[in-house]
Amino acid sequence: MADKRDYYEVLGVSRNASTQQLKNAYKKLAIKNHPDKNPGDKAAEDRFKEAAEAYDVLSDSKKKAQYDQFGHAGVQGMGGGGGFHNFDDIFSQFGDIFGDMFGGGGGFGGFGGRSRRPRAEAPRGEDIQIKIPLTLQEILKGATKKVKLRRYNNCKTCGGKGGSGDSSCSVCGGVGQVRQTQQSLFGTMVNVTTCPECRGRGKIIKNKCKDCYGQGREKSEVTISIDVPAGVAQGNYITLRGEGNKGMNGGASGDLLAIIAEKEDPYFERQGNDVVCTSEVQFTTVALGGEIRVKTIDGEVDLKIPAGTQSEKLFRLAGKGLPDLNTGRRGDQYVKVHVFTPSTLSVREKELLNELDEVQEHEPGDKSFFKKAKSFFK
Ligand SMILES: [Zn+2]
Ligand SMILES: [Zn+2]
Repeated sequence: MADKRDYYEVLGVSRNASTQQLKNAYKKLAIKNHPDKNPGDKAAEDRFKEAAEAYDVLSDSKKKAQYDQFGHAGVQGMGGGGGFHNFDDIFSQFGDIFGDMFGGGGGFGGFGGRSRRPRAEAPRGEDIQIKIPLTLQEILKGATKKVKLRRYNNCKTCGGKGGSGDSSCSVCGGVGQVRQTQQSLFGTMVNVTTCPECRGRGKIIKNKCKDCYGQGREKSEVTISIDVPAGVAQGNYITLRGEGNKGMNGGASGDLLAIIAEKEDPYFERQGNDVVCTSEVQFTTVALGGEIRVKTIDGEVDLKIPAGTQSEKLFRLAGKGLPDLNTGRRGDQYVKVHVFTPSTLSVREKELLNELDEVQEHEPGDKSFFKKAKSFFK
């Protein structure tokens, strides 16, 4: 496309059109130029794509701002200006617009690109979700997890065909879909659904396979290896394309979604990429100063405690947290020091503490300081 038309001009709206106005304008053009209505009309097809591209940019506030400021050059390489190359992209991106217009996910006349290739297709298999429990140490380094799962795989007996001897489905006439037309407020609504008789395949198997009852798939256990990158967090997921259930009768496989579940750690609490822990220290250490050994998610380190440290003070260990999923940069560890009070004392300890009690000059809350200050001003 050498000289592109202005996107607002394409949709026939003003520069300050509302989101709803943009949507309505696009809808109108998409329906008018829809390939189902204009079979073989190249000009309509171009207009259909042009409208989708314009709407893609103007319906996205970020892309719109770029376009408003810099024109077509501003949105080059943002996924918008490049244009749509095929119908599937358009349908997968804007399917909901057609969906809410024509009532239900079925869409209009097989939106989803199917009407362009009315060849029957066996349905895609279902996606599978699994949980991957990970410790903080695994999140720190990344991990390769082997998981066992039961899923539908190709039936070995029939090789996924479901049997032998095909005849065309009489219900859908071999198309694999059935259309229902009904009149409504918006005009004619067309619902397209997968043929219930042949389940979208367009063909009926005469001699069904005994092992899979004609489904072409059977459940079995498989072991899958999943590479989890470092820095993932609770709820992140990894999609393994094609590792879900095999579709019936040679249909494509669904995906496997591996959802990250953090195992609770007895010592650390995660806060973003930082980790927080509490360390108990002796009163003598915080009073006199000293060093304590502190656990980190990868080993132990020494932490200097300055003399006069108050209980519950937070110390930061830079770079001892978890790595950022994208940059790999590690967060920090925060150590809260909690002064330990012994619940039993030896005779000697008691002796010394009693002695300390008698001689100690400083009271909590620096009261002694105020006392002294007061007496000074008197
Ligand atoms: Zn079989
Ligand atoms: Zn059928």
